[in-house]
Amino acid sequence: MKLIPIKKYAKKHIESNPGSKIHDVKESLQAAVERQKDGASCAVCEQPIWALGSAFSGFDGCFTCITGDSDDSGDYEVY
Ligand SMILES: [Zn+2]
Repeated sequence: MKLIPIKKYAKKHIESNPGSKIHDVKESLQAAVERQKDGASCAVCEQPIWALGSAFSGFDGCFTCITGDSDDSGDYEVY
């Protein structure tokens, strides 16, 4: 995965989701990163969570369980 700072990703997210508020996006991402740091595991398979995906999917999950895709090389993770 490509690592990207929360601030930078939040801007990208707003560009593709103009209805979202940047403050809310940052808050969701920050909260997910905190849960990841605390050792949160995927609700489905117990792998470490994908913070970026967990922030918007409504549950804490790993990349594969959230996207159904095993190749995460083109996707971002926030920090
Ligand atoms: Zn999983």
